[in-house]
Amino acid sequence: MWGGVAAPSSGKSLHHTRREKAGTMPENVLDCLVIGGGPAGLTAAIYLARFRRRFQVVDAGASRAALIPTSHNHAGFPEGIHGKALLSRMTEQARKYGAHIVPGSVTRLERRPDGVFLATLDGEPIPARTILLATGVVDREPDLPDVPDVIRRGLVRHCGICDGYEALGKRVAVIGHGSSGLHEALFLRTYTADITLLSLGRSLVLTEEEGRQAAQAEIAIVEEPVRRVVVEGDQVRALDMLGGACRSFDVLYAALGSDARSDLVRGLGTRLDDKGCVVTDEHQRSSTDGLFAAGDVVRSLDQISVAMGQAAIAATAIHNRLRGVPSPRGAPDDTLSFSPQDLCTCCSRPDARRH
Ligand SMILES: Cc1cc2nc3c(=O)[nH]c(=O)nc-3n(C[C@H](O)[C@H](O)[C@H](O)COP(=O)(O)OP(=O)(O)OC[C@H]3O[C@@H](n4cnc5c(N)ncnc54)[C@H](O)[C@@H]3O)c2cc1C
Repeated sequence: MWGGVAAPSSGKSLHHTRREKAGTMPENVLDCLVIGGGPAGLTAAIYLARFRRRFQVVDAGASRAALIPTSHNHAGFPEGIHGKALLSRMTEQARKYGAHIVPGSVTRLERRPDGVFLATLDGEPIPARTILLATGVVDREPDLPDVPDVIRRGLVRHCGICDGYEALGKRVAVIGHGSSGLHEALFLRTYTADITLLSLGRSLVLTEEEGRQAAQAEIAIVEEPVRRVVVEGDQVRALDMLGGACRSFDVLYAALGSDARSDLVRGLGTRLDDKGCVVTDEHQRSSTDGLFAAGDVVRSLDQISVAMGQAAIAATAIHNRLRGVPSPRGAPDDTLSFSPQDLCTCCSRPDARRH
């Protein structure tokens, strides 16, 4: 254990240590609290641990990456990698450098007048100089009769960018109620000519131009409600429609969008976009000083590689911002670990010469 960042085996979180010593020790403020332990949060953990920062990751254990059966588009894994395997490898790598990853859900985030953030975990406040919000998004589930949570259970696919390639030449259906459904269907047209857009009994809201695009791409549109879902193995294979027809597909996608898990920062007045995603600058800084965000919770392409890239940028910006806050390892002068010409522009110095 070093500088308050516990070794994985200790099982003792920093905020517990703080409570035990309350009144006898100066307040133990983290350099950073990472909220969320998916690909974004874990990448940040690897970087922050290797920057020897005093930080903690709190993770509620509902990463979208855990839903990936096998990812074939994540670089570096030619045979593909299971989402849970990737998370487990990243966790192992972060822990190797001393990262402390705590299970749980942060339920409240506020800021004291001195600028220190207070995050509430299990009713206990965790003080931190900076926050990295890496809480991801929640996919909107389609309303299919008697089969709830089809995305979370992996019964329907969700992301054409991720696995459209595997739908090459297959019969594909896309569940959507409007533009986003059509756009997913048009995207998947790269892979197959057999595409049906299903609105599950709702009337499909498309502009005239979108209607023309659908017709041009020969996308069949079905607005009829579904009576019964036929599940075979781990896939939805057919839908019995209310009118009596049975429609079979090789692959079913849901394209109903997602909701950003950004409620924690609403009280801080952090700028969010119209979808509730955190708005950040090129260094992943939000409009709230000291609050950074990375991954799906930021409006961008929802992909593992993007989450990792943003987290690397955020962690480096956080480290540079905290330059001068002593290293938990007590290095003679950790502020000199980079020469001034190496400072990237995400540090707080306006005269930084290198990115
Ligand atoms: C079925 C499916 C297949 C996919 N396939 C691919 C693919 O092949 N390739 C690809 O690149 N991408 C794929 N994706 C997308 C990819 O999973 C996401 O882009 C990626 O997981 C985003 O990482 P993240 O860290 O931002 O969010 P997440 O992975 O969702 O992690 C967020 C974490 O934050 C935690 N959290 C949330 N709120 C709190 C809180 N208040 N306190 C503590 N913890 C909290 C959550 O529990 C979760 O563990 C797929 C997604 C799905 C659903």
